[in-house]
Amino acid sequence: MAKPNIDASKLTITLIQTPKELKDQSTLKFGDYFTDHMLCIKYTEENGWEAPEIKPYGPLAIDPAAYALNYSVQAFEGTKAYRAADGTINLFRPQKNLERLASSSQRIMLPEFDQEQFLECIKELIKVDQRFVPHGHGYSMYVRPNFIGTEPNLNLAYSREALLYVYLSPVGPYFPRTVRLYANATEARAWPGGVGNYKLGGNYAPALRPAKDVNNRGYDQILWLLGDDHYVTEVGTMNFFIFWVNADGEKELVTAPLDGIILPGVTRDSLLELARRWGEFKVSERKITMPEVITAIEEGRLLEAFGAGTACIVCSVSEVFYQGKDHVIPVDPTDPDAVYGPLTKRLRAELLDAQYAVTPSSWNVPL
Ligand SMILES: *Cc1c(COP(=O)(O)O)cnc(C)c1O
Repeated sequence: MAKPNIDASKLTITLIQTPKELKDQSTLKFGDYFTDHMLCIKYTEENGWEAPEIKPYGPLAIDPAAYALNYSVQAFEGTKAYRAADGTINLFRPQKNLERLASSSQRIMLPEFDQEQFLECIKELIKVDQRFVPHGHGYSMYVRPNFIGTEPNLNLAYSREALLYVYLSPVGPYFPRTVRLYANATEARAWPGGVGNYKLGGNYAPALRPAKDVNNRGYDQILWLLGDDHYVTEVGTMNFFIFWVNADGEKELVTAPLDGIILPGVTRDSLLELARRWGEFKVSERKITMPEVITAIEEGRLLEAFGAGTACIVCSVSEVFYQGKDHVIPVDPTDPDAVYGPLTKRLRAELLDAQYAVTPSSWNVPL
């Protein structure tokens, strides 16, 4: 008989005894404040998925020898719930995140799970803690699913026990400013045959030291280059886009292809779709190299460059250090104080309007 999968109808809810006081919304930053409850769903190979539980937010009891702690058997996701002006709450394309979580976790031999039932449980968690979902444009509830191998076993086989859990963090508006990049061709975030296209915790720890190094040199983020031709992959933990007049003289929005190196961002996918719907210029997913980017800067053909991800939506790039030199990227030639270029700003506005349900969008999933 098939082992039980996640079943939202079996969800139990244990409410916290002393609910937290709500933090003053204007003091919200990113990722250091959590709500009252969390969702936990346990799995064992023997019995399948247990009944989902919503319970007070708090420490997990994990065996010190758990796979997650020894061998980084951990996959995660990040998505957001947005409160519309009328008070209703929507998740933005959460199915994309759950598909990606399934793909990431299967790469590290974690068990399959029913994505729809899991989404129903996540919605319930947000409902339970909905007083924490902030009001107003720019504010949102960050949703962090985590999937870990919990079997205590030092043998490198696979974890026969697992925990899928979700917690919530109300977040404030991202302070808009442009970023300066340091193009790094020495260290690699991901490589052919590697796991750069999966959101695995193990991909992020090794990036901490290179990131700190560039911060110490006065740069905000790493532009990750790969291989001898200096293929431009991603920026920090964001997908990277350029808008330029390409070598053939065409206006083109370009980002790296889903070739197994880059993380398939939901923001990336959404921006590509918006730009394709407009149909005003060429939109490409293809490999570009740093020498091509530098030539475009020198010839005045690079119009805008930006990073894209759930945390900031889009973030304009104003400068990039490459081979001993800072190269200035124009943000908006008509406005020296602009923090977004014209196209970047338009993409950002259109995406935010969808997320806050200012314009109706089939991407929104109501609670
Ligand atoms: C999460 C992440 C992104 C952005 O993905 P979104 O789904 O748009 O938030 C891009 N690159 C890396 C390396 C990431 O971890």
